Amino acid sequence: MAILQVNVRPAATSRSLSPRRGGQLGEFHTRFRWGTSPATTSIQKTLNSDFSQQSAANPSSTESTDWQTIVWKLMPGTTVGRAQLSATQRLREAGSPSSSLDAQLLLAHLYGVERSWLFAHYDHELSAESADAYAELIARRARGEPIAYLVGQRDFYDLTLQVNDSVLIPRPETELLVDAALTYIARRERTVKQVKAADIGTGSGAIALAVARHAPKAHVTAVDISPAALEVARANAQALDLTERVTFCQGNLLEPLTERVHLIMANLPYVNAKDYAELDPGVRDFEPETALLGGADGLDLIRTLLAAAPDYLLPGGQILLEIGYDQRTAVTALANKVLPGRPRIDVTRDYAGHDRVVHIQMG
Ligand code: GLN
Repeated sequence: MAILQVNVRPAATSRSLSPRRGGQLGEFHTRFRWGTSPATTSIQKTLNSDFSQQSAANPSSTESTDWQTIVWKLMPGTTVGRAQLSATQRLREAGSPSSSLDAQLLLAHLYGVERSWLFAHYDHELSAESADAYAELIARRARGEPIAYLVGQRDFYDLTLQVNDSVLIPRPETELLVDAALTYIARRERTVKQVKAADIGTGSGAIALAVARHAPKAHVTAVDISPAALEVARANAQALDLTERVTFCQGNLLEPLTERVHLIMANLPYVNAKDYAELDPGVRDFEPETALLGGADGLDLIRTLLAAAPDYLLPGGQILLEIGYDQRTAVTALANKVLPGRPRIDVTRDYAGHDRVVHIQMG
């Protein structure tokens, strides 16, 4: 029987509740361990309900006195309805602002069903294996692990993409970059037979695959420095039947490109060192640092890409970059400095009102 012991600093008493960029959990501090420590075992013996909880000041914590220990276990034979309710309570205590949705998504994932199935099967009893597997998923979520990694997928544009912790979880704001790419490609297709596009730092393949799906005549080259990320991107291309239209290359930024392209698209790491240190732990502790951190000012990779871009772009080419909310001025200045021929530069905002996509139209 799996026993979950979670050390929690309740959100209500946590030191900083300021909203942070990215991530799904505003403030979320938990530590947990599985096990049958003497304390856990004695609690187990006293249990006769589906679940149990014990909160107490954690004597082993030296970092903070307001950590609490929650011990939770899920008995086999508990029902879908009760398991869900119990998990919701545990996640709420652990600080998740989406505890009910999380509990539902993880249980639906476990059964391989839509969430609606749960509502029609409240009395369905969990097997011992399901109870253990659910408790483990809830434990990982209580520790702050993103739902997308727990269920292994995330929707982006109109695609469902497989993800794991080798890739950044695709964000909805990046869909705006795809829209901009499709607009450029549609315009360019009036004059060239095949538009060639490159997605630099493709990660899960989100941008490359969404563009390839919606611009069937274009060819996309997807580059990533991480072989593990490329494996995810390739698997996504396979699953979406887009392998014919996307070529995958491992390497640094533009270097693997063997021919010039009309369009360079990139959601490179752009978080600066200070913001990275303060990122939501649900992002910082789980998503790859190499996909987020862009050096001291966040612009290391964008700087290198822009400097090399003239050697890789065809005449009339365009560069689309996702940027951080405070990078508009710096990136515009950089582009003006390193790109020849007075490019036209526009910056569009995301739905949160933050500057997000830089459009650089070369002459
Ligand atoms: N939007 C991400 C975040 O703020 C950052 C993505 C990136 O660095 N490209 O968490």
